[in-house]
Amino acid sequence: MSPTDNLFGRLLGRPGALDLGPPAAPGMGLHLQLDQRGHVLSISGSLRMQLAPRVRNEPPPLLRELVCRDSALCIEGHPADWQQQSLDLDFLGLADQVLHTRGWVEPNGDNWALHLLDISDLLGGKRRAQDREQNHQLACQMSEQLRVCSLSRLPEVFNEHLRSLAQRWHIPCVALALLDEEDQGWRVYSGYAAHDAPALWQTGQHLGTCLDSANGNATLRMDTLRGRSDNPRLHSVFGNTEGFLVPYRDGQGVAAWLLCGFYSGQPHTGERDWLNLAAALAAPLLSRLREQRHHQQLERVEALQGLLGTGWWELLPATREIQLAPQLLHSLSLEDGPTRQALAQWLQLIHPADRQALNSRLHDLQALGKPLLTSVRLQRSDADHTPIWYRVQGQMLDGDDSRRWIGFMLDISDIKNQQLETAAAHARLDNLIASSPAVIYVQRYLSGALHPTFFSDSLMPLLGWTLAECNHDSLASLIHPDDRDLYFERSRQLLREGTVRSRYRVRDKQGHYHWLLDEAKLLRDDLGLPVEAVGLWLDVTDATLAAEQIKQSEERYRILVEDSPAMICRYRPDLTLTFGNTPLANHLERSPADLQGLNLGHWLSDEQRQAFVQRINQLTPEFPVSTAEISLELPGREHAWWVWSDRGVFDEHGTLLEVQAVGRDNSEVRRSQQQLTQSAKMATLGEMATGLAHEINQPLNVMRMAIVNVLKRLSNGTADAAYLTEKLQRIDAQVQRAARVVDHMRVFGRRSEIEQQLFDPSQAVHGTLSLLSDSLKAKGVELRIVPTDFTVQVKGYVDQLEQVLINLMVNARDALLSHREKHPQLQPWIALHCEHDRCHVRIWVEDNAGGIDPRLLERIFEPFFTTKPIGVGTGLGLSVSYGIVENMGGRLSVANAEEGARFCVELPVMGG
Ligand code: ADP
Repeated sequence: MSPTDNLFGRLLGRPGALDLGPPAAPGMGLHLQLDQRGHVLSISGSLRMQLAPRVRNEPPPLLRELVCRDSALCIEGHPADWQQQSLDLDFLGLADQVLHTRGWVEPNGDNWALHLLDISDLLGGKRRAQDREQNHQLACQMSEQLRVCSLSRLPEVFNEHLRSLAQRWHIPCVALALLDEEDQGWRVYSGYAAHDAPALWQTGQHLGTCLDSANGNATLRMDTLRGRSDNPRLHSVFGNTEGFLVPYRDGQGVAAWLLCGFYSGQPHTGERDWLNLAAALAAPLLSRLREQRHHQQLERVEALQGLLGTGWWELLPATREIQLAPQLLHSLSLEDGPTRQALAQWLQLIHPADRQALNSRLHDLQALGKPLLTSVRLQRSDADHTPIWYRVQGQMLDGDDSRRWIGFMLDISDIKNQQLETAAAHARLDNLIASSPAVIYVQRYLSGALHPTFFSDSLMPLLGWTLAECNHDSLASLIHPDDRDLYFERSRQLLREGTVRSRYRVRDKQGHYHWLLDEAKLLRDDLGLPVEAVGLWLDVTDATLAAEQIKQSEERYRILVEDSPAMICRYRPDLTLTFGNTPLANHLERSPADLQGLNLGHWLSDEQRQAFVQRINQLTPEFPVSTAEISLELPGREHAWWVWSDRGVFDEHGTLLEVQAVGRDNSEVRRSQQQLTQSAKMATLGEMATGLAHEINQPLNVMRMAIVNVLKRLSNGTADAAYLTEKLQRIDAQVQRAARVVDHMRVFGRRSEIEQQLFDPSQAVHGTLSLLSDSLKAKGVELRIVPTDFTVQVKGYVDQLEQVLINLMVNARDALLSHREKHPQLQPWIALHCEHDRCHVRIWVEDNAGGIDPRLLERIFEPFFTTKPIGVGTGLGLSVSYGIVENMGGRLSVANAEEGARFCVELPVMGG
């Protein structure tokens, strides 16, 4: 062992080291000669010059007095006692510094030699080691706490550590600045200031990029960063105060700065300690913040996935499985399923139409690393036909030691369905444009002229021309010669006014002309110069021709209406005329122009007008037409009879707006009908002449007998006044009877009234019987009359109803008489009775003449149908009767009863 080893062994305080070795080389260290009692005899050695001059030059006599007070304690007694001990002695050194030494005594003759070596470094190192140990412990503690505390308490815990740091090193202001990722500057994450120190830094304070300049230093030299004047850029951080800053570096460079203000550092805390401290604070903090960011990111991603109906997936080729994000499971309605499932099973979710394609792409992704991007539909079990679309995107991640195949699925049903709808709409539109009669065109403006540069596909189906065939030079020649001027004017107007609308004919390939409606707009550039014209050709051939036809047919109808022999007019519901043609005007003895505004009611009797208005009011949109025969009082004429047909015109609410009417003058027909009725009546009268002669003869006979008897009495002088009176009264009664018959005949022979009247039908029955009963009885025909015990009112002409009844009874009589010729034992009778219900009154005329041959039943109402010999029957009786009853709104019918024909006159009841 070398003396140096021994020396270090001693210095390190190893036990037993003192027995070993000779004294240290003279000259090194401090050597003191001591006497037996501990008096200093001499001082030598290199360390001597390290002693304070005072001590060096005039050393006190005793060693105990020479050393510092603490050391004096360990040298109680005399040098002989100190043998075998390691002596740590402190001396007063230069500049009031303490010189730490360690040494031992050894006998030197009678005296003692004390050898001492400088152990200042050794002690300083030990203290530093202790400090470092403490610092390390503190750092570990802080790191640990920062690592384990909850994220929400992280700022608080961190600030706490800053505070303990500040207190331990007596730093008035401490802060930690982190790189702010958003704006790439530095920002104070947390700051602490002692209560008596001004707060240099606030939490959240933005420090800009000035700290970047310090960033370049490979290792921190605290002293170079100390103070404002050293680094002008740090002035903005520290202001005018002393301070320093400690970086924390990670893989990317400086990630945090620990800022210490109002502080110049302590010698026993070294640069490395500060770096460690800064790292102990910043590293866990940054990792926790990263964790927090990661966590937030994850939450955001999860929320996003949930909101978008999207989620990630990862292929696990080793197990042929796929792993799905929980959100994806949810949106695929697989909540209950496992997040990992067999790929084949998962593919079953995809619509069969897309399944194979997806599978092959997944395979390409896995085998070739080919990125995957496709849209697929889901297989749906329900009957809903709107497909659910997913966009599937995937890629291969090449890690250092592993590969991953990751992607996401996004519900794009809305977009996809919209796309499909848009595509369909586009297709429809294209199709529509191509197949519609509209042609869209573009004409380019070239030095004053418009050159066709585009036609939509619909040009071909419409005209059969291509763009080349429809160019600027040939277009004009395709236009109908009559319309060319129009076309040129159209182009001029388009250039002049910017828009135009015109209509002209263009020839198609077959040589047919089409009417085209042309609407064009001129587009100009920024300078207002024409660039091109965009326009539309619409084939309006059909419409144009139809319009022309309508015009023509309108003209035809106008002529028809004007020239028609029929009366045509339009009038409002209050009967005010809005139009009337010439025939109507002629009848009313006005000019057609004057008719407008006149009221039709003016020519109607009150009763007729009332009936007319009532009829018009019954028109409905469902039954808008009504026909009637109306009677008018025309100027200077007898009554006119018009067959009048009205058609109502209604609005959408069913309100009658106006009436269109067509009329025909039926007066002549009506008059002939009347004449016919009259003739038939006269014929009836003629036929009844025999009966009537009997009717008149009867009273005449009675009177004659009376007169003969009176004359006889007068001649034989037996005629007294009473007798005469009685005979004269009888004669008077017979005169009255004859007068009644004649009167009635006169009434019956008269023409019917113009207007129908209300009357009691039994009047007609009485009239008939008064004319016929006697003559029938004379012919041996029994009359079976059931007296009526009611009165009702019917509307019509009493004489005409009487005529009908006479006809029926005369026919019955004739049938009975001819029947009796074949059956002499026949007891002929005619029965007549009336009945009524709420709506109708019925008059029955029945006989026992054997009835009518069923084959003739249908024909007997025909005019001129008769079975009677020529010159006897007219065949008009029943036909006229039928007309009369019908005219009164009733019905004449016949049936064969048990013994003969039974006729029925049925009339509507108008009142009780
Ligand atoms: P006419 O009496 O002039 O022949 P009508 O029109 O009155 O004309 O009668 C037509 C025909 O109807 C008659 O010719 C007759 O054949 C038949 N007829 C009418 N009434 C009767 C009746 N009560 N019984 C049988 N036949 C009848």
